[in-house]
Amino acid sequence: MPYLPSYGGYVRYLVGILLTVLIGRQAIVSLQRYLDRQKAAEALPDSQRRRTLSYDVALARLDKGVCPGCERPVDLKDPSRDFCPHCGIGLFNHCGACSARKSAFSRFCHACGTQASPENSEMA
Ligand SMILES: [Zn+2]
Ligand SMILES: [Zn+2]
Repeated sequence: MPYLPSYGGYVRYLVGILLTVLIGRQAIVSLQRYLDRQKAAEALPDSQRRRTLSYDVALARLDKGVCPGCERPVDLKDPSRDFCPHCGIGLFNHCGACSARKSAFSRFCHACGTQASPENSEMA
């Protein structure tokens, strides 16, 4: 029966195409949803966005050299860079007590130990 194997191959081929299309569509839909969420998050004010970010998530992202807000790569070692150039979230600010430049995500000033209240980071 020479017909059956080729028919099976044809079906496999079709199923392969169908699966590729379905998976591709799913990927596009979820990417679109992700981008929409990202866009909505980027529209929020800076301070509100920082509040919605978990402290540990923010630290882990900073550790990887990506913006905690938008997860795009940022040069954290550049001292002139206080804000993410991609989404505008504040990355560094100045301590309200000793005005040392510190990570906007740290809870305490590394120089004097003053607790970084949201008001302090707002001012800087
Ligand atoms: Zn960003
Ligand atoms: Zn300080």
